Amino acid sequence: QAKARGRGIYAFYSSDMQHQAQHRLTLRVELDGAMQRNELRAHYQPKLGIADDELVGFEALVRWQHPERGLVPPGSFIPLAESSGQIAAIDRWMLKTAIDQLAQWRRQGRRILPIAVNVSASLFSRSDFVAELTRWLDERKVPGHDLELEITEHVAMFDLDYTLSTLQALKRLGVALSIDDFGTGYSGLAYLRDFPIDTVKIDMSFIQRVHEDEKKQGIVRAIIALADTLGLQTIAEGVETEEELAFLKLQGCWGYQGYLFSPALAADEIERRYLVREVRQGI
Ligand code: C2E
Ligand code: MG
Ligand code: MG
Ligand code: MG
Repeated sequence: QAKARGRGIYAFYSSDMQHQAQHRLTLRVELDGAMQRNELRAHYQPKLGIADDELVGFEALVRWQHPERGLVPPGSFIPLAESSGQIAAIDRWMLKTAIDQLAQWRRQGRRILPIAVNVSASLFSRSDFVAELTRWLDERKVPGHDLELEITEHVAMFDLDYTLSTLQALKRLGVALSIDDFGTGYSGLAYLRDFPIDTVKIDMSFIQRVHEDEKKQGIVRAIIALADTLGLQTIAEGVETEEELAFLKLQGCWGYQGYLFSPALAADEIERRYLVREVRQGI
């Protein structure tokens, strides 16, 4: 009987795993097609200074404009792309798209605020990453300081010399560097001291309902104090309410992004709302 049950469980797992593997394979093939058919879209979320709600930049976030499923958020394909190795291609597409966007805004005489792009460990670890990025910036005549890269604590797990020299090369380009999802990774804190990081982004999980949770408050205070000590800026992610914002302001957090101000929007919407060209009228 136990044997029968064991088989039953095995059969259940087996078909479930088969189903999952099938689904992943389908999605993987579809994602390759999506890139070939230009179905990826860049949306941009405003980042604000906390003191005065002044716009300080944007974060580029990928979406998949699926022919049947509509606009698919990255949560449902980035994890797969990470395990399949497709993430580096997505990141390269996003970097080029953001640089093109900056070049276009420059040509159009719009106000230039830095765009931050998320860079996976997979792209970061490619030895030609900095050379490629340098070439894209040169080709589009976009200065490095228009660009910011958001890396996670995972990149700090590579060979330390490689990580450090890569980050230093990026800084020489003028690119600003943030640690994303801070507080959720596994690394120690030494890299904050050793790496040329500009900004720490406090993970959303510590921000949401922070005003009601003493443990979150303790963590957020500690991160801000640590960042202050090291001369780093802090940006809070996922701010949805005035109460959360008030707490962060009181603690001296430097900036924020979140649905309270705006979600990520398509470029044309960003232009309409925040980058309207000054119309000079002749006298
Ligand atoms: P992330 O880099 O930490 O980006 C912040 C995420 O929080 C975004 O989700 C953003 O839309 C969401 N968010 C912002 N404000 C709020 C808020 O007030 N409430 C809530 N509930 N969420 C908020 P999104 O766009 O779904 O992206 C999820 C993650 O996918 C990103 O987290 C990032 O890790 C990854 N991702 C997105 N685009 C790219 C990309 O081009 N390359 C790589 N490697 N990863 C990307
Ligand atoms: Mg990010
Ligand atoms: Mg984040
Ligand atoms: Mg996140």
